[in-house]
Amino acid sequence: MSLTGKTVMVTGASSGIGEAAARLLAAEGAAVVLMARREERLREVTREINEAGGRAVAAPGDVRSAADVERAVALAVDRFDSLDGAFNNAGWGSLGTPLHEMDDADYDRIMDTNVRGVWNCLRHQIPVMLRQESGGSIVNTSSTAGLFATGAAAPYVASKHAVAGLTKAAAAEYGGRGIRVNSLMVGATRTELMDEAISVMPQLEELSVGRAIQRRLADPQEIAQAVVWLCGDRSSFVTGASVPVDGGCSAV
Ligand code: NDP
Repeated sequence: MSLTGKTVMVTGASSGIGEAAARLLAAEGAAVVLMARREERLREVTREINEAGGRAVAAPGDVRSAADVERAVALAVDRFDSLDGAFNNAGWGSLGTPLHEMDDADYDRIMDTNVRGVWNCLRHQIPVMLRQESGGSIVNTSSTAGLFATGAAAPYVASKHAVAGLTKAAAAEYGGRGIRVNSLMVGATRTELMDEAISVMPQLEELSVGRAIQRRLADPQEIAQAVVWLCGDRSSFVTGASVPVDGGCSAV
């Protein structure tokens, strides 16, 4: 197993891409710390991972809260003795509202979750990795919306560009000390977030399928595979990268 002996923290692990990644990371031998707000769902996923022979612990919390993130990082070290990787994936977005009609509360929620959330994670994960002196690998969830604008989703587009920027800055600052930091530029993937978006904007599915060279949405498992690769040593020369996992939609 490619991740035996490593501990990886996953945010947004109660559903979708984060849940799939937590399960696959554990199946690949990593001890996993799962963070999200829906406690019951989070504990259910954690229990299922442990029942399947993995090692997992739930850290219910909100990534917008530095204290909650700090607690999750501390739990990783307390329970599994190290923090070697992180998948900073929790995110939220809304679309379909033109920029000039969007209210400030939506802007704040998107930026706080997607940008401050990743910021809080980096601020608390990196010191642990520096202290350990064994490096680490951090993967942040951006989006194809971090590469180009998608319709009527300005704060989301801005937030995902910011995640890619934070990723590059952190990679540059800590690369010399063995910490790799990469972004995943995720394409349209079948999750609760996508279902919610399609319910607001029914044409979104057809548009997303039409943009992808592979003419379909991703399954969360396919994104999780990239997370496992980036968290493990097989991607040892990859850092500061914006890695597209998008069925080719950013290529055309
Ligand atoms: P889901 O809605 O299935 O998952 C989002 C996860 O984030 C949930 O576990 C949710 O858990 C968690 N979350 C949301 N807000 C917070 C918060 N404040 N604190 C802690 N956890 C939070 O959607 P996806 O799996 O699709 O989304 C995962 C990531 O992928 C997001 O960053 C999204 O922007 C990105 N992405 C998704 C794409 C897609 O097509 N699905 C395309 C491109 C990027 P809870 O509610 O329990 O807190």
